Amino acid sequence: MSKIRFQALKETLNRNSVIITEDKRRSVLFGENVFDQKTMLQYLTKDAYTSVIGAIENGSKIDRRVADQIASSMKDWSLSKGVTHYTHWFQPLTGATAEKHDAFFETIGDGQAIEKFGGGQLVQQEPDASSFPNGGIRNTFEARGYTAWDPTSPAFIYGTTLCIPTVFVAYTGEALDYKTPLLRALQAVDNAATAVTKYFDKNVKKVNASLGWEQEYFLIDSALVNARPDIVMTGRTLLGHSPAKGQQLDDHYFGSIPARALNFMMDLEVECMLLGIPVKTRHNEVAPNQFELAPIYEETNLAVDHNSLLMDVMDKVGARHNLKVLLHEKPFAGVNGSGKHNNWSLSTNTGVNLLGPGKTPMSNLQFLTFFINTIKAINENEELMRAGIASASNDHRLGANEAPPAIMSVFIGEQLTAVLKELEGVTDGKLSPQEKTDLKLNVVGKIPEILLDNTDRNRTSPFAFTGNKFEFRAVGSKANCANPMTILNTIVAKQLIDFKKEVDELIGTKELKKDEAIFNVLREYIKQSKNILFEGNGYGSEWEKEAEKRGLSNNKTTPEALKAKISERNLKLFEEMGVMNRVESEARYEIEIEEYVMRIQIEGRVLGDIARNHVIPTAIRYQNMLIKNVSGLKGLYGDDFKKYAKEQMDILEEISEHIGKINTKVNEMTDARKEANKLEDLGKMASDYCVKVKPLFDEIRYSCDKLELLIDDELWPLVKYRELLFIK
Ligand code: ADP
Ligand code: MG
Repeated sequence: MSKIRFQALKETLNRNSVIITEDKRRSVLFGENVFDQKTMLQYLTKDAYTSVIGAIENGSKIDRRVADQIASSMKDWSLSKGVTHYTHWFQPLTGATAEKHDAFFETIGDGQAIEKFGGGQLVQQEPDASSFPNGGIRNTFEARGYTAWDPTSPAFIYGTTLCIPTVFVAYTGEALDYKTPLLRALQAVDNAATAVTKYFDKNVKKVNASLGWEQEYFLIDSALVNARPDIVMTGRTLLGHSPAKGQQLDDHYFGSIPARALNFMMDLEVECMLLGIPVKTRHNEVAPNQFELAPIYEETNLAVDHNSLLMDVMDKVGARHNLKVLLHEKPFAGVNGSGKHNNWSLSTNTGVNLLGPGKTPMSNLQFLTFFINTIKAINENEELMRAGIASASNDHRLGANEAPPAIMSVFIGEQLTAVLKELEGVTDGKLSPQEKTDLKLNVVGKIPEILLDNTDRNRTSPFAFTGNKFEFRAVGSKANCANPMTILNTIVAKQLIDFKKEVDELIGTKELKKDEAIFNVLREYIKQSKNILFEGNGYGSEWEKEAEKRGLSNNKTTPEALKAKISERNLKLFEEMGVMNRVESEARYEIEIEEYVMRIQIEGRVLGDIARNHVIPTAIRYQNMLIKNVSGLKGLYGDDFKKYAKEQMDILEEISEHIGKINTKVNEMTDARKEANKLEDLGKMASDYCVKVKPLFDEIRYSCDKLELLIDDELWPLVKYRELLFIK
């Protein structure tokens, strides 16, 4: 049984790096396989080009005749690059991307064939989508789903397939994917933010939300992974004793990148270049064999597509290097887990970052407006933000001692805290000329310097302002960024709408000047949002107590956290903002809660199997060896044998105890699952899985890990932590 472990080790130790050489500059490779604006100019008629740009920039419709032209050009471009198939590429709520390839090839009778791709095929497809999660939306067979082209995210070639980014919706109109609500949220924040920027600059026509994600991951040799059924089935290790050395020496973080990993990264980055994913940064992370990759930020919809695509490409490139990319948030106990910081900001079509410093007092007041409104939005929707990052796998991270806690808070740094304090003292109503000048010079005027010098950082904050952007750090490494980004942009949109209403009211009824009205509203917002601001150590237990006093939520588990998604208030919020109607919100909740149940269920089954069918038989085998040894000693020494066999007999007993415990706890776990499965209500079922099933994992693991320490290394069937984490 341990054969597979040793075979895997042998295979791994004999591996050579797959050497990657780069002979073309990256700027030349960039976007080569993307039907981007440069390629469109080359391939499209002027009409068609204008039409696509209009769709990208203003969401205008593309008519059918033009769509035919575009499709035909896409096909020509694709064929010139050896492409044979096309697919609508979308992001169903499974968390993976989906594609179904169709050949351009078509027969036209008389034994002849051509390559064909029309506007109809570009614009819409009807995948047989009945097996994608839909949360009860498509429960009748008439209610089929279809995919529809999203021209704002350019088509790209991967392998020999032309991939067309699409939304995925039910025929009745409800969203069945991540992209649709995201696009609606981005539209909402665009409208709301553009309206607010008019106070400062009448020329702004559009506001884009930007996203720069930082992807963390582990790289483990594929032979080792394949010898670990838990990683294969669940993406993480369900047992395994901590190695003597973990990350305590801090010798991996930012260290020199091991050769195999570096070749993997180069290969991956080249693929990213071809696909137009602007990756820029790579480095070792804190845990052994953990790494990070980050791109240059982009418009959010595109950035989300690029991250989803990246996760898929990583897997494929990994295979070429005999490496398995682990995106799970917590593949190994005892060392750091992986996250995906979401760096977020808003910028105008005129090129201004609304969360960055400006050149004039007015543009700095604009910064403060967006800055404070964002803080208020988080304050009022902290529970929803927490819900947006909830998953069975991210639960291992949040609140564990190395990741942001399950409590949302905002870090802004000492200097901006001081600025808010000043603003809190602004006079109620009209401001004297003296006060206005003072504010302009000494408060608002100082913003650029403050932001330039924003070295103030707090790594323990889940939502931190870092100079010209907010960084949502609690997002899970394997999550689709669309989920948290939909929530963040929706709540900020809602907040900006409320803000504008209040400012306009003060201008209208109290006859305040525009800037006076803005100062007045911001002052109140600062007072109302204090609870969410926290500058201290977010990992400490004092913060938990303090947060409780402040009335902040601390939803540690997914079943608890997800409830916020279907609270009456939040159902209304999404509906009012045009992001998701009630049916869509409820369906999503159901899908996520069901996924939670399934993940824990699968983990329970796998753990039960490994514990009973791998660990216990190994323990018994070792016991038999010991028994043989003891009876041998008895034969030699007669009644004196105990003098020589004491340790062996102690170990025998210890092993028996652990075997007994494992057996009992696996039975308990199976019963607990059976009980939970009887519940009709999914929320209750998830809660049972969380409270009654999952805690047994730790007890089973404890005994298995103890056995790992007791049993002869040569017998142990599972690749050990030290082998998984330290073989490079
Ligand atoms: P770190 O947070 O690790 O110090 P950086 O600040 O360099 O790293 O940036 C991390 C990510 O934030 C990158 O993807 C970067 O492109 C992105 N980023 C930088 N500026 C912005 C911005 N204004 N809006 C959104 N993302 C940004
Ligand atoms: Mg960062």
